[in-house]
Amino acid sequence: MASSLVPSQLTVTHEQLLGARGGWTGLQFVVNWKVCRWRSSGVIPNEKIRNIGISAHIDSGKTTLTERVLYYTGRIAKMHEVKGKDGVGAVMDSMELERQRGITIQSAATYTMWKDVNINIIDTPGHVDFTIEVERALRVLDGAVLVLCAVGGVQCQTMTVNRQMKRYNVPFLTFINKLDRVGSNPARALQQMRSKLNHNAAFMQIPIGLEGDFKGIIDLIEERAIYFDGDFGQIVRYEEIPAEFRAAAADHRQELIECIANSDEKLGEMFLEEKIPSISDLKLAIRRATLNRAFTPVFLGSALKNKGVQTLLDAILEYLPNPSEVQNYAILNRDDDSKEKTKILMNSKRDNSHPFVGLAFKLEAGRFGQLTYVRNYQGELKKGDNIYNTRTKKKVRVQRLVLMHADMMEDVDEVFAGDICALFGIDCASGDTFTNKDNSGLSMESIHVPDPVISIAMKPSNKNDLEKFSKGIGRFTREDPTFKVHFDTENKETIVSGMGELHLEIYAQRMEREYGCPCITGKPKVAFRETITAPVPFEFTHKKQSGGAGQFGKVIGVLEPLDPENYTKLEFSNEFQGAVIAGINRRHGVITGQDGVEDYFTLYADVPLNDMFGYSTELRSCTEGKGEYTMEYCRYQPCSPSTQEDLVNKYLEATGQLPVKKGKAKN
Ligand code: GDP
Repeated sequence: MASSLVPSQLTVTHEQLLGARGGWTGLQFVVNWKVCRWRSSGVIPNEKIRNIGISAHIDSGKTTLTERVLYYTGRIAKMHEVKGKDGVGAVMDSMELERQRGITIQSAATYTMWKDVNINIIDTPGHVDFTIEVERALRVLDGAVLVLCAVGGVQCQTMTVNRQMKRYNVPFLTFINKLDRVGSNPARALQQMRSKLNHNAAFMQIPIGLEGDFKGIIDLIEERAIYFDGDFGQIVRYEEIPAEFRAAAADHRQELIECIANSDEKLGEMFLEEKIPSISDLKLAIRRATLNRAFTPVFLGSALKNKGVQTLLDAILEYLPNPSEVQNYAILNRDDDSKEKTKILMNSKRDNSHPFVGLAFKLEAGRFGQLTYVRNYQGELKKGDNIYNTRTKKKVRVQRLVLMHADMMEDVDEVFAGDICALFGIDCASGDTFTNKDNSGLSMESIHVPDPVISIAMKPSNKNDLEKFSKGIGRFTREDPTFKVHFDTENKETIVSGMGELHLEIYAQRMEREYGCPCITGKPKVAFRETITAPVPFEFTHKKQSGGAGQFGKVIGVLEPLDPENYTKLEFSNEFQGAVIAGINRRHGVITGQDGVEDYFTLYADVPLNDMFGYSTELRSCTEGKGEYTMEYCRYQPCSPSTQEDLVNKYLEATGQLPVKKGKAKN
């Protein structure tokens, strides 16, 4: 087994391999490959592995934080800011679109190393339109870091991420970022963690100064001050706690111990017996409570100003689980039609004593075929192995096995349980399970896929591009289960549905960039129906004489419109009520109710579907990104006279009964 993970030389950039993303080449950042040497020392034990995700609300600084992590761990030699002056962008944002917009769209997987522990990181998008990426990341990772902005605190999307972490039982640490910003208030963010997210959370550190005065942090466990010196905060200096912070540090330490004692039995006993816990007692208790999700340790810093990142890395090793500390189950699907499902606990041993089981959790396609990200849950996967897709029952050969670093990759010969790797040229769908031959009845639990919330019509600008269009659509739907497509036979148009307008807009742009197929997107046509507005009496007699016994029937009654039911729901959050209500009124909505909890409010309204186009963008801009809404079909209702007139005129124009008005598009 010796030297089983020897890295090959730097092969080729992800960008070059996937190609067709235009413009950008992988040569714009420098990777320090020397750090890869550690992998040559044989199979890494579980204790030396952490698989973590970094999740947060958009703009809280995840990408900047990840960049710092890669820099301090020696994985990259230079740092670039998101939308930085050098125009390079952060390494993790490898898609050209991500660099332009300064947001993270596709989660990028990378691995790095801190104090001889191998950390696999998945940078997850914070935008609500890309929740499926977050769901996938949380499904395959063992622990997470929740990043909060010290100014914004817990925001609407933090709650979504929190729900997702709960669903997959992911233990996590919290990092309150941006302590250097004017208005930063970590105490308020902590309070919100307790009140809004219901977490038993406590500070592990307190800041030395805030905003422009933010100088360093005080470690409450080890009781020392920590400063980050050097141009990039790379030199960590430990000092005594400054005199003026001693009282506050003692108080917060006491509060921390009480919170842990409430969630860990062993420390609780010590607390009751009034024994003074040692540093190691405290660390072990925090670890146990964090793994049980009974306690959330809160760390502080400023990624941009290079403070607090190394201490967060220490905490990831200290308090987040290794792959053997998380129980993962596969479901055994029997051939004999029995509905009973048997759950099988995966073995996390990092050798070949158990058969291989892996989950394909993310796909990317490009010039050289499909790249499939796989989390290995059990056993060993070797280059050259034949593995089985348990859904299609097809055998595939692993021709190439790589570890990912943003858009660079490194070839390896084998991976073990707990590893996250990528395979080449394997045709499959996201969420498929791969096993060896004898376990083809196994499948990992499927990923929760939220229902799409918005639809638009999409077609190629040029009729000759139809083939490219369907190729692109085929790939995107395979990669992203929240991106759905159907053909509306009534209106004869292709309707794409997704998690938000940005989500769909990005696909339209990718269609142009990656498939050379510019698309026209537009409001989907609403299928209007005729209806009655007042009760109509009817009387019908059916008479038929067909040789044998005759048929006779009479139906008498009244047709009347149904009572309206309150079905359509719209949800909003806070700090922006007036603007939201005005927006709904503008769209001819009828507000049917509203309620509020703390500083959030929810509005319920019935709005004509015809008027909802562009609403998610409007809502986001009028609420600074905090508003969210859901929409459900309610009922058909008479449309306004002006809409009706419009429709009638359009119909008359289309059928040649009215001349087309000048300056009007044919469509
Ligand atoms: P993401 O959307 O969560 O990935 O956030 P980004 O890393 O893209 O950061 C969003 C913005 O916040 C960028 O302009 C960053 O430069 C800025 N930012 C990130 N971390 C900090 C910080 O610690 N302090 C301040 N003042 N700004 C930060």
